[in-house]
Amino acid sequence: MVSQDLLDILRCPACVREKDGMLDLVKGTWLVCRDCGRKYPISDDIPVMLIDEGDKWVTVAVDDLPVPPPPIA
Ligand SMILES: [Zn+2]
Repeated sequence: MVSQDLLDILRCPACVREKDGMLDLVKGTWLVCRDCGRKYPISDDIPVMLIDEGDKWVTVAVDDLPVPPPPIA
């Protein structure tokens, strides 16, 4: 599990400069940005906070996110 303390301080790297970039934990393994809809996978308990990674999932509906997330290339 990712600690709540860590989740509390994480923000979307694409939004944080101009907005809040608050993230919602979805399915226990995805972090979804409330501002831009990018979705960041949590891989092996490590949140992958890469804008490129978030971009891959921006058009995927939350309900369609795979669990567990696919391996990060
Ligand atoms: Zn964002």
